[in-house]
Amino acid sequence: MLTFKSLGLSEAILQGVLAAGYSTPTPIQAEALPVACSGRDLIGCAQTGTGKTAAFVLPMLHRLSVSPRRGRAVRALVVTPTRELALQVEKAVRTYGQCTRLRSVAIYGGVGMGPQIKALRRGVDVIVATPGRLLDHMDRGNIDLGRVEVLVLDEADRMLDMGFIRDIR
Ligand code: AMP
Repeated sequence: MLTFKSLGLSEAILQGVLAAGYSTPTPIQAEALPVACSGRDLIGCAQTGTGKTAAFVLPMLHRLSVSPRRGRAVRALVVTPTRELALQVEKAVRTYGQCTRLRSVAIYGGVGMGPQIKALRRGVDVIVATPGRLLDHMDRGNIDLGRVEVLVLDEADRMLDMGFIRDIR
């Protein structure tokens, strides 16, 4: 039987999967994990509710947890079209990464910059952000993406539909 362990996840991430209560990978997870864990690029398409979030969050956390962090640089960036999705994905990062020392923050507009700046200053490994506010922080020098190792464009088709092409570039 196909298991999360056989897909190559590290022990710390397997603990997070266990805490989430998952026993077997969904089809998109089974296909995406080996590719993403090995560091290759991929495009995944599947309907909502098929476990897409874990399909990119698990290998992302796996890669970050098996290679040591150097300094306090941001190591992974997930770009999402909406604030709701950013919050949801960041929650998944915290759930699956609960047995790691990785830190994350959700960055989105419509709220004050203060708490986000504070979190960024403390140092984060993973940023989950909507495009507009992300650029805002970058323009102000609050975020440096120079050492990002993993980039995810979540719901890329929707972001293009919403006219985010220039922001994404
Ligand atoms: P998503 O498609 O990423 O929005 O996930 C839909 C739901 O499936 C979420 O509530 C996840 O917690 C859940 N889920 C993701 N992967 C699994 C899995 N391997 N086994 C059971 N539930 C899962």
